[in-house]
Amino acid sequence: MARIVMKFGGTSVADLNRIHNVARHVKREVDAGHEIAVVVSAMSGKTNELVGWVENMPKVAGSNAPFYDAREYDAVVASGEQVTSGLLAIALQSMGINARSWQGWQLPIKTDNAHGAARILDIEGADIIRRMGEGQVAVVAGFQGLGPDNRLATLGRGGSDTSAVAIAAAVKADRCDIYTDVDGVYTTDPRIEPKARRLKKVAFEEMLEMASLGAKVLQVRSVELAMVHKVRTFVRSSFEDPDAPGMGDLLNPPGTLICDEDEIVEQEVVTGIAYAKDEAQISLRRLADRPGVSAAIFGPLAEAHINVDMIVQNISEDGSKTDMTFTVPSGDVNKALKVLSDNKEKIGYDVAQSESGLVKVSVIGIGMRSHAGVAASAFRALADKGINIKAITTSEIKISILIDGPYAELAVRTLHSAYGLDKS
Ligand code: ASP
Ligand code: MG
Repeated sequence: MARIVMKFGGTSVADLNRIHNVARHVKREVDAGHEIAVVVSAMSGKTNELVGWVENMPKVAGSNAPFYDAREYDAVVASGEQVTSGLLAIALQSMGINARSWQGWQLPIKTDNAHGAARILDIEGADIIRRMGEGQVAVVAGFQGLGPDNRLATLGRGGSDTSAVAIAAAVKADRCDIYTDVDGVYTTDPRIEPKARRLKKVAFEEMLEMASLGAKVLQVRSVELAMVHKVRTFVRSSFEDPDAPGMGDLLNPPGTLICDEDEIVEQEVVTGIAYAKDEAQISLRRLADRPGVSAAIFGPLAEAHINVDMIVQNISEDGSKTDMTFTVPSGDVNKALKVLSDNKEKIGYDVAQSESGLVKVSVIGIGMRSHAGVAASAFRALADKGINIKAITTSEIKISILIDGPYAELAVRTLHSAYGLDKS
């Protein structure tokens, strides 16, 4: 007997038939004698619709900024999950299962005050643990909690993954199953490389890199939380027949396990290739090479909430002038250039050049820590295909390479096969 948190994303609860199908997945685990808490997203598309309503309120004559109160934004967008939690509880009850819905404020799931992007601070799990022990399934609305101001707070888009992992940590679940519309985490995006393989296991740290690099399976914060609390998390599909053989396997259900690296016995050197589109590169030419220059550049960019990623600085030849290149999301490039020109005197550069439409391709694997030459093979493979590298950054478990947008797919496929990921 185990305690399992099952999370179902928007496509899995997109309509009544799918909610019924989700209930069958839950029933399978209940029938096996497990204690179950379920976390649901809103029906797919619902949150977008709710956000659209908030943002498109007709403006008062004379004002030009869209007006909204972040607390009321939360009151509106949190409603999507309220609906699906109630509907799933009804579907379960209709199958003879004892179930009830819980809104974030009812547990409560306590968050901070950052409405629209709140962080979970604490979850009161005693009540649902007791009821799960009595055989009641808790169906919890994801994405929402209660702020210190006693108002509903939402966790940022994709936040119900984080709700699920946080609840799994709070109730000390044996497993957190994230049911989605794909059947696991792949070595790369299968839409780009059909030979991509489903991974059996991925280490938390690798998944963190993959999630933040655009493999959009899980919200990044949920992976951070799973890593901190060591929540064994499975990514699996809700679209498979709930009663197919193996679906209820306690130790090896179909899907990808995200776990501590100690659990991964045979570690590959490279686990996956991720990519992030719409990067832009900004270069500041002939900067003074003196202390404080980086602070003068990146301080104001941070204040403007511009997320700077790769940073490359040249060492100046004669110790006086240097170049600095860094990347920002393409959508922020004009804002960044404005910040830089507003601070031109203080920073002291000659010209700022920019280029948009770039792609960052990354090679990820914790096995890199103990292997030499991993980066060199990536550079060789890209060179053989005539792909030009614009910037490189590395960490212990990742090599990121910036290239021109049109080469993205070729680069992903090239690297995928360079590390033998297409061979099982
Ligand atoms: N419904 C919310 C969203 O679309 C939360 C989630 O689905 O995880 O962002
Ligand atoms: Mg999601």
